[in-house]
Amino acid sequence: MDKEKLETKNSKQPPWKDVSISDPRVRLKYLSDYASTVEMDRNNPPHRYYRSGVEMLRMADMCMKDNDLEYAYLLYVKFITIFLEKIRNHPQFHTVPLKDKKQNEQTLRKVIPKAEELKKQLLEQYQTEFNEYLGDMKEKERIEKERLKQEELERLREEEKKNKLAALAAVKAAKIAASENVVAPEENKIKKISNISPKPLVQLVSPGSDVTAQTSKENKPNIDRSTKPSLLCDNFILRDIVLPTKLMHNFLMLAFTNTMNNKETCGILAGKLERNKLLVTHLLIPEQTGSPDSCVTHNEEDIFDYQDQHNLITLGWIHTHPTQTAFLSSVDLHTHCAYQLMMAEAIAIVCAPKYDETGYFILTPEYGLEFIANCRETGFHPHPNDPPLYMKAKHCKLDTTAIIEVVDLRRK
Ligand SMILES: [Zn+2]
Ligand SMILES: [Zn+2]
Repeated sequence: MDKEKLETKNSKQPPWKDVSISDPRVRLKYLSDYASTVEMDRNNPPHRYYRSGVEMLRMADMCMKDNDLEYAYLLYVKFITIFLEKIRNHPQFHTVPLKDKKQNEQTLRKVIPKAEELKKQLLEQYQTEFNEYLGDMKEKERIEKERLKQEELERLREEEKKNKLAALAAVKAAKIAASENVVAPEENKIKKISNISPKPLVQLVSPGSDVTAQTSKENKPNIDRSTKPSLLCDNFILRDIVLPTKLMHNFLMLAFTNTMNNKETCGILAGKLERNKLLVTHLLIPEQTGSPDSCVTHNEEDIFDYQDQHNLITLGWIHTHPTQTAFLSSVDLHTHCAYQLMMAEAIAIVCAPKYDETGYFILTPEYGLEFIANCRETGFHPHPNDPPLYMKAKHCKLDTTAIIEVVDLRRK
């Protein structure tokens, strides 16, 4: 493993990625604390949480296949936190059909031991990583010692060379002095006379000059203690979301008639996890009713069925602004909140054909997400915009060669 890279990335990494923590339980605690801080949005009806639960477990399976135990564990803890405690405080909890609750309880019974098992594996993994880290540190220390030794040898060699030259100069000076009967030592140049120089020359050349004293006064290295590594950063690193470039084009084609009639169109982005990247492979168009500034979906069950059959997870949504620019309205922010609470990487794409603009957005993870989750207003309403509630999604990557499957579930 490339430890060099790991260490330079440390300051940006979540604390449970810090391999220098000696106690594996501390790392695991950071991870489970993070996973169990689930924000609940009371405006988001409970059946959506039950639906998201299905996808969380699907995602956890993908993580296991991807050999990402950490993320799988995170999802299991999140699932357990939501369905063992948080959902019960939802004001509409009583509206959840009994059969859904029963089904969920059964799932929980399977998830809890799975999480326990993963916990053991993670503790082992963390222990191994720490041992590797220690070995690595020792190796670094050894290399550093070797380097210092070489430096010292080099320094001694240099010194010897200088001394030889100085001795030669001394001999020369002595000869001149003897011939002229004048003692004119060159001061401060000679530290020690090496083996070729007979002793008396030392006294002749540098009486009283003390070079050694000077070199020993070298500055002590400055140690800057102000830059401690920041272990407690809570910015979760977002995985990349890879979007086929064709997606936006295909969506605009499909929305064309609506756009001409000044009606919004929306779609769901779905896909899978592969090699630590989230790939958008499907664009699902639900049954919907659009207006100039909104779009309401119907028969969401159709979408869920399709996703279940094709093992797809929800990665965000896309909609048009027929006459406006690409931004997120207050209603959009609330819609997106539900997506992002369930999947930290979920994005909102806004296509504004009139301005030839496309925006890729997320709620700011450290502020906007919580703010919107706690905002009780509905319909269009003003929000303070400082600090910003949303931002460009930097983890979005466009892929010009990837293909997108468009599934139009609208009943015409
Ligand atoms: Zn909008
Ligand atoms: Zn609001």
